[in-house]
Amino acid sequence: MFYKEKTYNLELAKIQKMETITKNLYGQLKKYFGFEAFKGLQEPIIINMLEGNDTFVLMPTGGGKSLCYQLPALMLEGTAIVISPLIALMKNQVDAIRGFITDNNGVAHFLNSSLNKQQILEVREDLLNGVTKLLYVAPESLTKEENMALLRQLKISFYAVDEAHCISEWGHDFRPEYRRIRPIINEIGVAPLIALTATATPKVQHDIQKNLGMLHAKMFKSSFNRSNLYYEIRSKVNTEREIIKFIKNNEGKSGIIYCLSRKKVEDLSELLKVNGVKALPYHAGMDAATRSTNQDKFLMEDADVIVATIAFGMGIDKPDVRFVIHYDIPKSLEGYYQETGRAGRDGGEGRCITFYSYKDIQKLEKFIQGKPIAEQEIGKQLLLETVAYAESSICRRKLLLNYFGEDYIEENCGNCDNCMHPKKQFEGCEYIVLVLETVLAVKEKFKTEHIANIISGVMNSTVKSYRHYELEMFGEGADKHVRFWNAIIRQALILHFLEKEIENYGLLKVTAKGRAYLKDPYSVTLTEDREYSESDDSDDLMAQGKGVACDEELLALLKDLRRSVSKRLELPPFVIFQDPSLEDMAIQYPITLDELKSCQGVGEGKAKKYGTDFILLIKQYVEEKEIARPQDFIVKSVVNKSGSKVFIIQSIDRKMMLEDIADVKGLSMDELLTEIEAIVNSGTKLNLNYYIDEVVDEDKITDIYTYFKEDAEDETLEAAMAALGLDFTEEEVRLVRIKFLSEVAN
Ligand code: ADP
Ligand code: MG
Repeated sequence: MFYKEKTYNLELAKIQKMETITKNLYGQLKKYFGFEAFKGLQEPIIINMLEGNDTFVLMPTGGGKSLCYQLPALMLEGTAIVISPLIALMKNQVDAIRGFITDNNGVAHFLNSSLNKQQILEVREDLLNGVTKLLYVAPESLTKEENMALLRQLKISFYAVDEAHCISEWGHDFRPEYRRIRPIINEIGVAPLIALTATATPKVQHDIQKNLGMLHAKMFKSSFNRSNLYYEIRSKVNTEREIIKFIKNNEGKSGIIYCLSRKKVEDLSELLKVNGVKALPYHAGMDAATRSTNQDKFLMEDADVIVATIAFGMGIDKPDVRFVIHYDIPKSLEGYYQETGRAGRDGGEGRCITFYSYKDIQKLEKFIQGKPIAEQEIGKQLLLETVAYAESSICRRKLLLNYFGEDYIEENCGNCDNCMHPKKQFEGCEYIVLVLETVLAVKEKFKTEHIANIISGVMNSTVKSYRHYELEMFGEGADKHVRFWNAIIRQALILHFLEKEIENYGLLKVTAKGRAYLKDPYSVTLTEDREYSESDDSDDLMAQGKGVACDEELLALLKDLRRSVSKRLELPPFVIFQDPSLEDMAIQYPITLDELKSCQGVGEGKAKKYGTDFILLIKQYVEEKEIARPQDFIVKSVVNKSGSKVFIIQSIDRKMMLEDIADVKGLSMDELLTEIEAIVNSGTKLNLNYYIDEVVDEDKITDIYTYFKEDAEDETLEAAMAALGLDFTEEEVRLVRIKFLSEVAN
């Protein structure tokens, strides 16, 4: 151990003298990676590494962190140990390096649980022969005694801890094994250290440095601002329609939609498909093959939209993702930043839209309650930060960057909903003063929520147990809602009058600037939070159209047309289109067969058979009247393919007897026929001949069929029963009517 440190020091002295190396950096960059120039802070970082210093790198995803340790690893004597959390990522990285350095496969290796005995032997040999410059290890492999023994025999150039936020319980991706890295390094042999991460709040950053024993490391921090990304938060109302509308207005563009649950992923991707969007699902519950096919299709642009849980995106580097939609609010702002960060990698358009409802927050809170106490506390705090972000009317960019410890000084970023539609502002001096005084009055030992509760006079158990109702500030701001005071505190944080303590995360402290402000207050402009409408949870797409007035004039024209078509084809009008279909046309104004299919009761067959005349009429009408068609509101629902309907359709395809289907589904024959009629009325073709031929007399079939084809005024059962007489049962008439509508109308 002592010996190792000594050689390392000698090495260090050597490097410091070899300034030529750093001068030759560009040559090495070109030679190994083929790049002409460094990105961002890569060059000073690499020089710092070559000088043998500890280094801390904070750089957004895609910023080029890997090169910061790969290049020095190739240049320095010995092997660099890269600790990285994900086996899949590790393999990608090693493949990438081998791709650059084509003449030597042994230059990079990984060591993790996925290797077999033979592969491990190969790695060992290359390591001991000094061929390998980069060794990727998972933290749990690092702790294995046999691996430690191997590593002790090596000359180690430095250690790199990638995805270093995994060290902190306050990071979004905490891995307990990451906390053991420092002691293990001490055992294997000390060498310089570089920690890299793409998401670190000041709290997480401090945790990393403390845990790795690198509080004095040189810090390199790139800006996390992604100026090309547009941020927007919307109320979670009519979410599905809003999403479809958005996608239709952005036809052909690539996008990701994140949902929290697997079920939602499946339902939503199904709904998008039905509406003509090239969408595919992706979540961890799908088998690996389908998952990777779907991912490839998205990358190769066979699919425009991927609907996914957060399992999707790790290591995905598609440059032209044009939008990221959060169907559900993420659990933390780190997650939000990562996920939205997958938009606009190429610097082009990237729209980030999140649907927010406080109900979702409550769901997430319930979810958190199932976890260990320490985790609960952290989870709750992170969630509160997310709520604060969503509800605030301050520039989103400013809020987000402030969360990551960065100041954004522009007044108006011009590329978020809050800057584009600013809320009314007001003079905030006296409110800020009250907040600061309250924080001091409770000795800087409490968090935002409690301070807001004191000022608005909320008498809860914490207030009682600390007797905070005795403070002169208690209830001082009772004329405003707690929400209002939360918003003031948040803005005091952004203005740096307050800060959150790092060790005891969340406790509010008054800064020096805050204390100066109290002595000599001045005018500050503040804004109130936004209000979001609550979702009604009944995103029932079938209900749409109801309550929307239809165009009576057009409806009359459509009915005229139906009459003349019916005469020409010698078919009753209801066979062509039933009334609800015409009414829907008079709401949606479809002018292509595709659009027509999204009207009620119009399936593929019906649209083809009878649709052309109708869309021509509507087109002419729309042009003459210069009607602005609500085309982006045409949303076709999958609701009519409910579980039991799908089952019925499949069973009929398999020629199952109706009695058996009714049995399985626990329906009476009457109920089953009602379901089948609904299926046929919505435009789906069903072939029931196998059943009807068995249970209805041949002559009767002909009679009933002829009645509907030639005599019927409308399709009602009553009229049919009256016309056909007592020889026919209701069931027979219904069955043949289904056959008739299916064959002629659909
Ligand atoms: P991070 O780990 O920060 O998310 P990566 O290390 O994966 O980012 O790098 C992101 C992309 O940038 C990669 O495709 C990489 O090849 C590329 N890259 C890195 N450095 C440079 C450079 N100096 N010039 C051009 N491309 C670079
Ligand atoms: Mg990386």
